[in-house]
Amino acid sequence: MFINANDPTKKSWVHIPKNSDFPIQNIPFGVFLTREDIITIGTRIGDTVVDLGAMHQLGYFDGIPLTEDIFLQDTLNDFISDGKKTWRLVRNRINEVFDIGNNSLQNSEDHKSIILFSLDEIDMQLPVQIGDYTDFYSSKEHATNVGSMFRDPENALMPNWLHIPVGYHGRSSTIVPSGTPVHRPIGQTMPKGSENPIFGPSRFVDFELEMAFITTDANTMGESIPIDEAEGYIFGMVLFNDWSARDIQKWEYVPLGPFLAKNFASSISPWIITLDALEPFRTSAVKQDPRPLPYLSQEGEHSFDIQLEVDITTEKGVSTTISKSNFKYMYWTMAQQLAHHTSNGCKVNSGDMMGSGTISGPTPDSYGSMLELAWQGARPITLNDGSERKFIQDHDTVTLRGFCERNGLRIGFGEVSTKLLPVFNSRT
Ligand code: CA
Repeated sequence: MFINANDPTKKSWVHIPKNSDFPIQNIPFGVFLTREDIITIGTRIGDTVVDLGAMHQLGYFDGIPLTEDIFLQDTLNDFISDGKKTWRLVRNRINEVFDIGNNSLQNSEDHKSIILFSLDEIDMQLPVQIGDYTDFYSSKEHATNVGSMFRDPENALMPNWLHIPVGYHGRSSTIVPSGTPVHRPIGQTMPKGSENPIFGPSRFVDFELEMAFITTDANTMGESIPIDEAEGYIFGMVLFNDWSARDIQKWEYVPLGPFLAKNFASSISPWIITLDALEPFRTSAVKQDPRPLPYLSQEGEHSFDIQLEVDITTEKGVSTTISKSNFKYMYWTMAQQLAHHTSNGCKVNSGDMMGSGTISGPTPDSYGSMLELAWQGARPITLNDGSERKFIQDHDTVTLRGFCERNGLRIGFGEVSTKLLPVFNSRT
């Protein structure tokens, strides 16, 4: 189905910098705080932020069935609950209003002064109230690498891995937007060669290069979502840095999986890029062998060609790109993850967040974590200032970026950038 807002020939009357992630074909959704301490739902075109609450009050969404206060809220949950038909109508309308041929807002200085903001006038917030967060483990390369290091290279993948999109229930209370610093966690670890565990600051703090998708109300308790319908319940995607403490993880994860090694922080990019905006960048997923069971089988293109990269910036401001990967390397698709998640009748709500799992590519420069890039410390990475890293140091900033590019059209996610601070209350 052709989506009007995706027309690659459209141009906007708003200035769009070269290589911007946010052309008029993107139209992401987010929540921002103004200088007057007003929280509102918005979108972004180029480097201009648009107050959708003000647009709605001024009549720009007339004819679309929306409640009056749908954008005057501090989360997108209610809008996401309205469903895909409404998301599409709103996105198409924004695209029309900002089209270079449309004079309605373009010629109204009064309205523009109310609706438009520059980036330095606003602060981005968490876009949704995340009720539940699930983290999958769906990159075959990542699962193989971690299985090789933590267990046995000969049996790196567990027997279930090729049949089930393996995942665990995470914790949503410590998911924060880009720009929010994160403290090095304290925890229990078993140092190599030691006979007794110790308690103290994690020594192996790591990032995980992931993406996450956000769902709408998908089902009632007991009902499963068929795989062919699953994409219709996905609102959009964000970049996701699932901070991890590898020494805590290694000691605690058997038999019930990750716990305190993961739930001290996860960072997301603040703009949700809709699945509609990603339509032009569909691609085939990794070939699955053995063929999944029928409830997980699908035909066609169900992955997306999203280029990803990771930078470390040191305290003195020197940046180094340490990994380049791609979302298309995922073995299990989002539709398979959501179909599996609800196959037992588990209820999924508006604003739920599902992490992809670390996205590692096939080559060592495309691995999605320090654990793999530096291979548990055996191959330290040299940064552009000459310093070495095995894991993330205090005062390092980790930045994930992602964008799609095809036939001259670029749709991006912006970035999620997070500084690691020393342990909480530490004086160092
Ligand atoms: Ca993870």
